[in-house]
Amino acid sequence: MSQIILPGTTATGQQTTLGVMGGGQLGRMFVQAAQAMGYFTAVLDPDPASPAGLVSHFHVQTDYLDEQGLAQLMQRCAAITTEFENVPAPALYTLGAHCPVAPGASAVAVAQDRIKEKAHFERCGVPVAPYAVIGATEHLAAMLDAPSAAPGRPKQASAPLGGSAVHEVTSVGADLFPGILKTARLGYDGKGQIRVKTRAELAAAWDSLSQVPCVLEKMLPLAAECSVIVARGWNGDMVHFFPQLNLHRDGILAVTQVFEGNMASATVERSVAAAKSIADDLQYVGVLCVEFFVLQDGSLVVNEMAPRPHNSGHYTLDACDVSQFDLQVRTLTGLPLVPPRQHSPAIMLNLLGDLWFDADGRPITPAWSEVLALPGTHLHLYGKLQARKGRKMGHLNITGADVEAVRATAQRAAALLGIPAF
Ligand code: ATP
Ligand code: MG
Repeated sequence: MSQIILPGTTATGQQTTLGVMGGGQLGRMFVQAAQAMGYFTAVLDPDPASPAGLVSHFHVQTDYLDEQGLAQLMQRCAAITTEFENVPAPALYTLGAHCPVAPGASAVAVAQDRIKEKAHFERCGVPVAPYAVIGATEHLAAMLDAPSAAPGRPKQASAPLGGSAVHEVTSVGADLFPGILKTARLGYDGKGQIRVKTRAELAAAWDSLSQVPCVLEKMLPLAAECSVIVARGWNGDMVHFFPQLNLHRDGILAVTQVFEGNMASATVERSVAAAKSIADDLQYVGVLCVEFFVLQDGSLVVNEMAPRPHNSGHYTLDACDVSQFDLQVRTLTGLPLVPPRQHSPAIMLNLLGDLWFDADGRPITPAWSEVLALPGTHLHLYGKLQARKGRKMGHLNITGADVEAVRATAQRAAALLGIPAF
Protein backbone atom coordinates (compact mmCIF):
# COMPACT_ATOMS: atom_id res chain seq x y z
CA MET A 1 0.00 0.00 0.00
CA SER A 2 1.57 3.27 -1.05
CA GLN A 3 -0.93 5.84 0.22
CA ILE A 4 -1.71 6.66 3.80
CA ILE A 5 -5.42 6.53 4.62
CA LEU A 6 -5.93 9.68 6.64
CA PRO A 7 -8.73 10.09 9.19
CA GLY A 8 -11.57 12.57 8.85
CA THR A 9 -13.41 13.91 5.83
CA THR A 10 -11.86 13.60 2.37
CA ALA A 11 -11.53 16.52 -0.10
CA THR A 12 -14.75 15.35 -1.76
CA GLY A 13 -16.66 15.38 1.53
CA GLN A 14 -16.62 11.62 2.17
CA GLN A 15 -16.08 10.16 5.62
CA THR A 16 -13.17 7.75 5.52
CA THR A 17 -14.42 4.39 6.79
CA LEU A 18 -12.41 1.46 8.16
CA GLY A 19 -13.89 -2.02 8.20
CA VAL A 20 -13.50 -5.01 10.47
CA MET A 21 -14.46 -8.62 9.88
CA GLY A 22 -16.04 -9.88 13.10
CA GLY A 23 -18.09 -8.13 15.74
CA GLY A 24 -16.67 -9.41 19.03
CA GLN A 25 -15.01 -7.41 21.78
CA LEU A 26 -11.76 -7.04 19.86
CA GLY A 27 -13.69 -5.55 16.95
CA ARG A 28 -15.46 -3.25 19.37
CA MET A 29 -12.21 -1.90 20.80
CA PHE A 30 -10.78 -1.48 17.28
CA VAL A 31 -13.91 0.45 16.29
CA GLN A 32 -13.62 2.65 19.38
CA ALA A 33 -9.95 3.41 18.65
CA ALA A 34 -10.67 4.18 14.98
CA GLN A 35 -13.61 6.42 15.88
CA ALA A 36 -11.53 8.31 18.44
CA MET A 37 -9.17 9.20 15.61
CA GLY A 38 -11.99 10.40 13.36
CA TYR A 39 -12.63 7.41 11.13
CA PHE A 40 -16.07 6.03 10.41
CA THR A 41 -16.30 2.28 10.95
CA ALA A 42 -18.10 -0.69 9.45
CA VAL A 43 -18.43 -4.15 11.02
CA LEU A 44 -19.39 -7.37 9.27
CA ASP A 45 -20.94 -9.87 11.68
CA PRO A 46 -24.16 -11.87 11.41
CA ASP A 47 -25.15 -11.21 15.04
CA PRO A 48 -27.45 -8.17 15.31
CA ALA A 49 -26.29 -7.65 18.92
CA SER A 50 -22.56 -8.13 18.36
CA PRO A 51 -20.38 -6.01 20.69
CA ALA A 52 -18.69 -4.19 17.78
CA GLY A 53 -21.83 -3.92 15.65
CA LEU A 54 -23.57 -2.11 18.52
CA VAL A 55 -21.05 0.75 18.51
CA SER A 56 -20.16 1.00 14.80
CA HIS A 57 -21.46 3.50 12.23
CA PHE A 58 -22.31 0.64 9.88
CA HIS A 59 -23.11 -2.97 10.64
CA VAL A 60 -23.35 -5.44 7.78
CA GLN A 61 -25.33 -8.33 9.25
CA THR A 62 -24.40 -11.21 7.03
CA ASP A 63 -22.35 -14.35 7.16
CA TYR A 64 -18.60 -13.92 6.58
CA LEU A 65 -18.77 -15.56 3.17
CA ASP A 66 -21.92 -13.79 1.96
CA GLU A 67 -21.03 -12.17 -1.37
CA GLN A 68 -23.42 -9.26 -0.95
CA GLY A 69 -22.21 -8.59 2.56
CA LEU A 70 -18.58 -8.60 1.46
CA ALA A 71 -19.46 -6.32 -1.49
CA GLN A 72 -21.17 -3.86 0.86
CA LEU A 73 -18.18 -3.80 3.16
CA MET A 74 -15.72 -3.26 0.30
CA GLN A 75 -17.84 -0.49 -1.14
CA ARG A 76 -17.85 1.44 2.11
CA CYS A 77 -14.33 0.87 3.38
CA ALA A 78 -10.93 2.33 2.54
CA ALA A 79 -9.26 -0.63 4.29
CA ILE A 80 -10.37 -3.69 6.23
CA THR A 81 -8.94 -5.63 9.18
CA THR A 82 -10.03 -8.69 11.09
CA GLU A 83 -10.73 -9.26 14.76
CA PHE A 84 -10.66 -13.02 15.01
CA GLU A 85 -8.56 -15.64 13.30
CA ASN A 86 -11.42 -17.83 12.21
CA VAL A 87 -12.74 -15.42 9.59
CA PRO A 88 -12.69 -17.69 6.53
CA ALA A 89 -9.52 -17.00 4.55
CA PRO A 90 -11.49 -17.01 1.24
CA ALA A 91 -13.45 -13.98 2.48
CA LEU A 92 -10.19 -12.15 3.14
CA TYR A 93 -8.88 -13.11 -0.32
CA THR A 94 -12.05 -11.68 -1.90
CA LEU A 95 -11.74 -8.43 0.06
CA GLY A 96 -7.99 -8.23 -0.53
CA ALA A 97 -8.48 -8.26 -4.29
CA HIS A 98 -10.36 -4.97 -4.03
CA CYS A 99 -8.99 -3.00 -1.10
CA PRO A 100 -6.15 -3.04 1.43
CA VAL A 101 -6.67 -5.85 3.96
CA ALA A 102 -4.38 -6.29 6.96
CA PRO A 103 -3.45 -8.80 8.13
CA GLY A 104 -3.54 -10.47 4.73
CA ALA A 105 -5.36 -13.68 3.96
CA SER A 106 -2.19 -15.74 3.67
CA ALA A 107 -0.92 -14.75 7.14
CA VAL A 108 -4.33 -15.39 8.69
CA ALA A 109 -4.46 -18.78 6.96
CA VAL A 110 -1.24 -19.78 8.73
CA ALA A 111 -2.53 -18.67 12.14
CA GLN A 112 -5.84 -20.50 11.57
CA ASP A 113 -4.19 -23.86 11.34
CA ARG A 114 -1.97 -25.21 14.13
CA ILE A 115 -0.20 -27.50 11.67
CA LYS A 116 0.83 -24.67 9.33
CA GLU A 117 1.51 -22.42 12.31
CA LYS A 118 3.94 -24.86 13.93
CA ALA A 119 5.71 -25.39 10.61
CA HIS A 120 6.10 -21.61 10.35
CA PHE A 121 7.55 -21.34 13.86
CA GLU A 122 10.04 -24.10 13.13
CA ARG A 123 11.05 -22.37 9.89
CA CYS A 124 11.75 -19.25 11.95
CA GLY A 125 13.96 -21.30 14.27
CA VAL A 126 11.68 -20.83 17.28
CA PRO A 127 11.23 -24.06 19.29
CA VAL A 128 7.76 -25.58 19.63
CA ALA A 129 6.54 -28.26 22.05
CA PRO A 130 7.20 -31.80 20.74
CA TYR A 131 4.16 -32.74 18.68
CA ALA A 132 2.73 -35.03 16.07
CA VAL A 133 0.04 -34.41 13.49
CA ILE A 134 -3.02 -36.62 13.62
CA GLY A 135 -4.47 -35.90 10.22
CA ALA A 136 -5.83 -39.19 9.04
CA THR A 137 -6.78 -42.57 10.44
CA GLU A 138 -3.44 -44.01 9.28
CA HIS A 139 -1.61 -41.54 11.52
CA LEU A 140 -3.43 -42.70 14.60
CA ALA A 141 -3.10 -46.34 13.61
CA ALA A 142 0.66 -45.82 13.23
CA MET A 143 0.82 -44.25 16.65
CA LEU A 144 -1.16 -47.02 18.24
CA ASP A 145 1.13 -49.58 16.62
CA ALA A 146 4.32 -47.85 17.74
CA PRO A 147 6.15 -49.74 20.50
CA SER A 148 5.40 -47.84 23.67
CA ALA A 149 8.60 -48.99 25.31
CA ALA A 150 10.69 -47.34 22.61
CA PRO A 151 10.17 -43.64 22.88
CA GLY A 152 10.57 -42.13 19.46
CA ARG A 153 10.37 -38.57 18.25
CA PRO A 154 7.74 -37.68 15.70
CA LYS A 155 9.14 -38.19 12.26
CA GLN A 156 8.62 -35.20 10.10
CA ALA A 157 8.26 -35.19 6.35
CA SER A 158 6.44 -32.83 4.04
CA ALA A 159 3.78 -35.09 2.66
CA PRO A 160 0.74 -33.49 1.09
CA LEU A 161 -2.49 -34.30 2.84
CA GLY A 162 -5.75 -32.57 2.17
CA GLY A 163 -4.00 -30.29 -0.28
CA SER A 164 -1.42 -28.91 2.11
CA ALA A 165 1.98 -30.00 3.27
CA VAL A 166 1.85 -31.55 6.73
CA HIS A 167 4.06 -33.61 8.97
CA GLU A 168 3.26 -37.23 8.54
CA VAL A 169 3.59 -39.33 11.61
CA THR A 170 5.02 -42.74 11.04
CA SER A 171 5.63 -43.64 14.65
CA VAL A 172 5.40 -41.86 17.92
CA GLY A 173 6.62 -43.31 21.15
CA ALA A 174 5.61 -42.71 24.70
CA ASP A 175 7.40 -39.38 24.87
CA LEU A 176 4.34 -37.39 23.76
CA PHE A 177 2.34 -38.61 26.77
CA PRO A 178 0.87 -37.11 28.80
CA GLY A 179 -0.19 -34.86 25.98
CA ILE A 180 -2.90 -32.53 24.75
CA LEU A 181 -4.83 -33.32 21.63
CA LYS A 182 -5.76 -30.02 19.93
CA THR A 183 -7.88 -29.54 16.85
CA ALA A 184 -5.79 -27.97 14.09
CA ARG A 185 -8.49 -25.40 13.40
CA LEU A 186 -11.20 -23.44 15.22
CA GLY A 187 -9.98 -23.86 18.81
CA TYR A 188 -10.11 -21.02 21.31
CA ASP A 189 -10.12 -20.57 25.09
CA GLY A 190 -9.10 -24.19 25.53
CA LYS A 191 -12.02 -25.45 23.42
CA GLY A 192 -11.21 -28.28 21.03
CA GLN A 193 -8.56 -29.63 23.39
CA ILE A 194 -8.45 -32.88 25.32
CA ARG A 195 -5.74 -34.04 27.70
CA VAL A 196 -4.65 -37.63 27.11
CA LYS A 197 -2.37 -39.89 29.11
CA THR A 198 -2.35 -43.08 27.05
CA ARG A 199 -2.73 -44.18 23.45
CA ALA A 200 -6.18 -45.59 24.24
CA GLU A 201 -7.25 -42.21 25.62
CA LEU A 202 -5.82 -40.58 22.51
CA ALA A 203 -7.90 -42.77 20.23
CA ALA A 204 -11.05 -42.04 22.22
CA ALA A 205 -10.28 -38.32 22.31
CA TRP A 206 -9.76 -38.15 18.56
CA ASP A 207 -13.09 -39.90 18.04
CA SER A 208 -14.81 -37.42 20.31
CA LEU A 209 -13.32 -34.59 18.22
CA SER A 210 -14.96 -36.21 15.16
CA GLN A 211 -11.56 -37.26 13.79
CA VAL A 212 -10.82 -33.79 12.45
CA PRO A 213 -7.12 -32.98 11.80
CA CYS A 214 -5.38 -32.47 15.13
CA VAL A 215 -1.99 -32.11 16.73
CA LEU A 216 -0.94 -34.14 19.73
CA GLU A 217 1.30 -31.93 21.82
CA LYS A 218 3.41 -33.06 24.73
CA MET A 219 2.30 -31.56 28.07
CA LEU A 220 5.21 -29.42 29.18
CA PRO A 221 6.08 -28.46 32.76
CA LEU A 222 5.32 -24.74 32.60
CA ALA A 223 6.99 -22.28 34.94
CA ALA A 224 5.00 -19.43 33.37
CA GLU A 225 3.31 -18.20 30.22
CA CYS A 226 3.97 -14.97 28.41
CA SER A 227 3.04 -13.21 25.20
CA VAL A 228 4.49 -10.51 22.99
CA ILE A 229 2.47 -8.12 20.86
CA VAL A 230 4.13 -6.57 17.83
CA ALA A 231 2.74 -4.17 15.23
CA ARG A 232 4.25 -4.26 11.74
CA GLY A 233 3.46 -1.78 8.99
CA TRP A 234 3.18 -2.07 5.21
CA ASN A 235 6.75 -0.77 4.95
CA GLY A 236 8.16 -3.37 7.37
CA ASP A 237 8.52 -0.98 10.33
CA MET A 238 7.88 -2.82 13.56
CA VAL A 239 7.21 -1.81 17.17
CA HIS A 240 6.31 -3.94 20.19
CA PHE A 241 4.94 -3.83 23.71
CA PHE A 242 6.81 -5.11 26.75
CA PRO A 243 6.11 -8.86 27.18
CA GLN A 244 3.04 -9.81 29.17
CA LEU A 245 3.10 -12.40 31.96
CA ASN A 246 -0.11 -14.43 31.67
CA LEU A 247 -1.94 -16.69 34.08
CA HIS A 248 -4.43 -19.10 32.52
CA ARG A 249 -7.12 -20.95 34.43
CA ASP A 250 -8.98 -23.83 32.77
CA GLY A 251 -7.36 -22.93 29.44
CA ILE A 252 -8.66 -19.34 29.56
CA LEU A 253 -6.59 -16.24 30.23
CA ALA A 254 -7.34 -15.03 33.76
CA VAL A 255 -4.67 -12.45 34.73
CA THR A 256 -2.03 -10.49 32.83
CA GLN A 257 0.77 -8.63 34.62
CA VAL A 258 3.03 -6.17 32.83
CA PHE A 259 5.89 -4.25 34.38
CA GLU A 260 9.69 -4.29 34.34
CA GLY A 261 10.83 -7.34 36.28
CA ASN A 262 7.69 -9.42 35.62
CA MET A 263 9.99 -12.06 34.10
CA ALA A 264 13.70 -12.75 33.66
CA SER A 265 15.41 -10.33 31.29
CA ALA A 266 16.64 -13.20 29.10
CA THR A 267 12.99 -14.28 28.62
CA VAL A 268 12.04 -10.72 27.70
CA GLU A 269 14.79 -10.47 25.11
CA ARG A 270 14.27 -13.90 23.61
CA SER A 271 10.49 -13.65 23.38
CA VAL A 272 10.60 -10.24 21.71
CA ALA A 273 13.23 -11.40 19.20
CA ALA A 274 11.20 -14.55 18.42
CA ALA A 275 7.93 -12.62 17.94
CA LYS A 276 9.64 -10.16 15.61
CA SER A 277 11.17 -12.87 13.46
CA ILE A 278 7.80 -14.69 13.28
CA ALA A 279 6.13 -11.46 12.04
CA ASP A 280 8.93 -10.53 9.66
CA ASP A 281 9.10 -13.94 8.07
CA LEU A 282 5.37 -13.78 7.30
CA GLN A 283 5.73 -10.25 5.85
CA TYR A 284 2.97 -9.60 8.37
CA VAL A 285 1.01 -6.34 8.36
CA GLY A 286 -1.04 -5.52 11.46
CA VAL A 287 -0.97 -6.38 15.15
CA LEU A 288 0.27 -9.87 15.98
CA CYS A 289 0.40 -11.59 19.35
CA VAL A 290 2.71 -14.53 19.94
CA GLU A 291 2.09 -16.73 23.01
CA PHE A 292 4.96 -18.54 24.71
CA PHE A 293 5.51 -21.15 27.38
CA VAL A 294 8.37 -20.55 29.82
CA LEU A 295 9.63 -23.96 30.91
CA GLN A 296 10.96 -24.79 34.34
CA ASP A 297 14.56 -24.70 33.08
CA GLY A 298 13.95 -21.14 31.86
CA SER A 299 13.82 -22.05 28.18
CA LEU A 300 11.16 -20.66 25.90
CA VAL A 301 8.76 -22.53 23.63
CA VAL A 302 6.29 -20.84 21.29
CA ASN A 303 2.67 -21.93 21.74
CA GLU A 304 0.60 -20.12 19.13
CA MET A 305 -0.02 -16.77 17.51
CA ALA A 306 -3.08 -14.58 17.06
CA PRO A 307 -3.26 -12.40 13.92
CA ARG A 308 -4.94 -9.53 15.74
CA PRO A 309 -4.88 -7.67 19.05
CA HIS A 310 -4.99 -10.05 21.99
CA ASN A 311 -6.70 -10.39 25.34
CA SER A 312 -3.29 -10.15 27.04
CA GLY A 313 -2.84 -6.70 25.47
CA HIS A 314 -5.97 -5.08 26.88
CA TYR A 315 -3.93 -3.37 29.62
CA THR A 316 -2.46 -1.16 26.88
CA LEU A 317 -5.77 0.76 26.79
CA ASP A 318 -5.01 2.33 30.16
CA ALA A 319 -1.30 1.78 30.85
CA CYS A 320 0.27 2.86 27.54
CA ASP A 321 0.31 6.03 25.48
CA VAL A 322 -0.66 4.04 22.38
CA SER A 323 -2.90 0.97 22.74
CA GLN A 324 -2.79 -2.23 20.72
CA PHE A 325 -5.99 -1.06 19.01
CA ASP A 326 -4.44 2.31 18.13
CA LEU A 327 -1.61 0.37 16.53
CA GLN A 328 -4.08 -1.80 14.64
CA VAL A 329 -5.55 1.40 13.16
CA ARG A 330 -2.09 2.74 12.34
CA THR A 331 -0.86 -0.46 10.68
CA LEU A 332 -4.05 -0.69 8.63
CA THR A 333 -3.95 2.91 7.41
CA GLY A 334 -0.20 3.25 6.93
CA LEU A 335 0.10 5.92 9.64
CA PRO A 336 3.46 6.11 11.44
CA LEU A 337 4.22 3.42 14.01
CA VAL A 338 5.63 5.01 17.12
CA PRO A 339 7.09 2.77 19.81
CA PRO A 340 4.46 2.53 22.55
CA ARG A 341 5.44 3.80 26.00
CA GLN A 342 3.98 2.12 29.06
CA HIS A 343 3.50 4.83 31.65
CA SER A 344 2.24 2.67 34.52
CA PRO A 345 2.70 -0.86 35.78
CA ALA A 346 -0.44 -2.78 34.92
CA ILE A 347 -2.48 -5.81 35.87
CA MET A 348 -5.50 -6.96 33.91
CA LEU A 349 -8.19 -9.20 35.34
CA ASN A 350 -10.44 -10.96 32.86
CA LEU A 351 -14.11 -10.73 33.77
CA LEU A 352 -15.72 -14.02 32.83
CA GLY A 353 -19.44 -14.70 32.92
CA ASP A 354 -18.91 -16.79 36.08
CA LEU A 355 -18.81 -13.54 38.07
CA TRP A 356 -22.47 -12.89 37.22
CA PHE A 357 -23.58 -15.92 39.28
CA ASP A 358 -23.42 -16.70 42.99
CA ALA A 359 -22.28 -20.02 44.47
CA ASP A 360 -25.78 -21.45 43.97
CA GLY A 361 -25.90 -20.41 40.32
CA ARG A 362 -28.28 -17.51 40.93
CA PRO A 363 -27.71 -14.36 38.80
CA ILE A 364 -25.97 -11.45 40.56
CA THR A 365 -24.46 -8.11 39.60
CA PRO A 366 -20.72 -7.95 40.29
CA ALA A 367 -19.60 -5.37 42.89
CA TRP A 368 -18.73 -2.64 40.36
CA SER A 369 -19.26 0.21 42.75
CA GLU A 370 -16.84 -1.18 45.34
CA VAL A 371 -14.29 -2.07 42.66
CA LEU A 372 -14.44 1.35 41.06
CA ALA A 373 -13.91 2.96 44.47
CA LEU A 374 -10.36 1.57 44.33
CA PRO A 375 -8.00 4.14 42.74
CA GLY A 376 -6.47 3.03 39.44
CA THR A 377 -9.22 0.63 38.35
CA HIS A 378 -10.55 0.89 34.79
CA LEU A 379 -13.63 -1.13 33.90
CA HIS A 380 -14.24 -2.32 30.33
CA LEU A 381 -17.46 -4.24 29.63
CA TYR A 382 -18.18 -5.46 26.12
CA GLY A 383 -21.94 -4.96 25.98
CA LYS A 384 -22.72 -8.68 25.80
CA LEU A 385 -26.36 -9.23 26.62
CA GLN A 386 -26.04 -12.58 28.33
CA ALA A 387 -23.50 -13.79 30.87
CA ARG A 388 -22.43 -17.42 30.58
CA LYS A 389 -19.76 -19.28 32.51
CA GLY A 390 -16.41 -18.96 30.75
CA ARG A 391 -17.71 -16.18 28.45
CA LYS A 392 -15.49 -13.10 28.27
CA MET A 393 -17.76 -10.27 29.42
CA GLY A 394 -15.12 -7.61 30.01
CA HIS A 395 -11.85 -6.88 31.75
CA LEU A 396 -10.58 -4.71 34.57
CA ASN A 397 -7.30 -2.86 34.16
CA ILE A 398 -5.44 -1.74 37.24
CA THR A 399 -2.77 0.96 37.04
CA GLY A 400 -0.87 2.73 39.80
CA ALA A 401 2.27 4.51 40.87
CA ASP A 402 4.25 1.35 41.54
CA VAL A 403 4.05 -2.42 41.25
CA GLU A 404 3.20 -2.95 44.94
CA ALA A 405 0.23 -0.58 44.75
CA VAL A 406 -1.04 -2.16 41.53
CA ARG A 407 -0.70 -5.66 43.00
CA ALA A 408 -2.51 -4.73 46.20
CA THR A 409 -5.37 -3.06 44.31
CA ALA A 410 -5.66 -5.96 41.86
CA GLN A 411 -5.87 -8.53 44.67
CA ARG A 412 -8.47 -6.41 46.45
CA ALA A 413 -10.53 -6.04 43.27
CA ALA A 414 -10.23 -9.77 42.59
CA ALA A 415 -11.50 -10.56 46.10
CA LEU A 416 -14.45 -8.19 45.68
CA LEU A 417 -15.40 -9.82 42.40
CA GLY A 418 -14.90 -13.42 43.52
CA ILE A 419 -11.83 -14.01 41.33
CA PRO A 420 -9.34 -16.35 43.06
CA ALA A 421 -6.14 -14.66 44.28
CA PHE A 422 -3.07 -15.01 42.08
P1 ATP B 1 -6.53 -19.23 23.14
O1 ATP B 1 -6.65 -19.19 21.66
O2 ATP B 1 -7.70 -18.72 23.89
O3 ATP B 1 -5.23 -18.67 23.64
P2 ATP B 1 -6.42 -22.05 22.76
O4 ATP B 1 -7.73 -22.72 22.89
O5 ATP B 1 -5.89 -21.77 21.42
O6 ATP B 1 -6.45 -20.76 23.61
P3 ATP B 1 -3.86 -22.98 23.74
O7 ATP B 1 -3.26 -21.63 23.79
O8 ATP B 1 -3.26 -23.95 22.81
O9 ATP B 1 -5.43 -22.97 23.53
O10 ATP B 1 -3.86 -23.64 25.20
C1 ATP B 1 -4.58 -23.02 26.27
C2 ATP B 1 -3.77 -23.18 27.55
O11 ATP B 1 -3.61 -24.56 27.88
C3 ATP B 1 -2.37 -22.63 27.45
O12 ATP B 1 -2.34 -21.24 27.64
C4 ATP B 1 -1.68 -23.44 28.57
O13 ATP B 1 -2.02 -22.92 29.84
C5 ATP B 1 -2.31 -24.80 28.44
N1 ATP B 1 -1.50 -25.62 27.49
C6 ATP B 1 -1.68 -25.74 26.17
N2 ATP B 1 -0.77 -26.54 25.59
C7 ATP B 1 0.06 -26.95 26.59
C8 ATP B 1 1.22 -27.80 26.64
N3 ATP B 1 1.71 -28.40 25.55
N4 ATP B 1 1.80 -28.00 27.84
C9 ATP B 1 1.30 -27.41 28.97
N5 ATP B 1 0.21 -26.60 28.99
C10 ATP B 1 -0.41 -26.37 27.83
MG1 MG C 1 -3.66 -19.75 23.56
